[in-house]
Amino acid sequence: VRVTFTTIYSKGKGAAGTIAVLQDVTEQEKLEQSRREFVANVSHELRTPLTTIKSYLEALEDGAIEEPQLAAKFVGVARNETERMIRLVTDLLQLSRLDSKQAIISKETTDVAEMLEEMTDRFSFQLEQRSISVDLEVEQGVGEIMLDRDRIDQVLDNLVSNAIKYTPDGGHIRIQATRPVQSVLEISIQDNGIGIPRKDLSRIFERFYRVDKARSRSMGGTGLGLSIAREIVKAHGGTIHLDSELGQGTRITFTLPYQQEEATG
Ligand code: ADP
Repeated sequence: VRVTFTTIYSKGKGAAGTIAVLQDVTEQEKLEQSRREFVANVSHELRTPLTTIKSYLEALEDGAIEEPQLAAKFVGVARNETERMIRLVTDLLQLSRLDSKQAIISKETTDVAEMLEEMTDRFSFQLEQRSISVDLEVEQGVGEIMLDRDRIDQVLDNLVSNAIKYTPDGGHIRIQATRPVQSVLEISIQDNGIGIPRKDLSRIFERFYRVDKARSRSMGGTGLGLSIAREIVKAHGGTIHLDSELGQGTRITFTLPYQQEEATG
């Protein structure tokens, strides 16, 4: 709260009174500050790959281009960094659409078990390579739900790819779908990976917030996956939360509401 005192003088009589104006500026200032932080983050996240690309291009120019093996390696790095920038900009555009409520959520009837099986299939190669096992448990009665399939696929992909990224080889991931009450679908993804320190938990859904920036970058992360997942779930009228124990693992749970007919049917 900002308080402004203005003293009123009346001619020849000195101070006649004081007016105090109370203004709630905290909310506004917080918004302004987070906007500034966001712009700084975006700039930094874009400048890092650009700087890398520039230095590799310079090295090519300085002669590396004459050495086919080296040249191929440098071009590969530049290409990887370009791909990271494309991912970043795509994520940013999507967040901006979700923010401005321009994103149209088009729901279709979806079989939950089928959706989750297809999702684990998409990751089967990666999972096998890393020797990570997956348990998929779909409770009876979960059935079908109306959702925007592309967007919820993206939520699932972000969450499962995190579970894989932050779990060592040979780890285990458990995906569960339940219907704790008639009107709610609950999906949880649990890993036995590195976990998240307690002090970071409250900020983990913030844009660009990462426990370990270098690690996240080296894994190809943009630091926006959880923020996007949260916005998509919110746009569906659902909730999302994360529990984690450092060194033990992480469990992320989101809910989606069934429509009235599905709830009673
Ligand atoms: P990133 O692209 O960095 O993975 P996210 O928004 O998806 O960005 O996640 C933000 C941060 O949360 C990650 O950098 C990581 O520190 C932490 N995190 C997310 N999921 C997990 C998980 N399953 N286990 C451990 N840490 C996680």
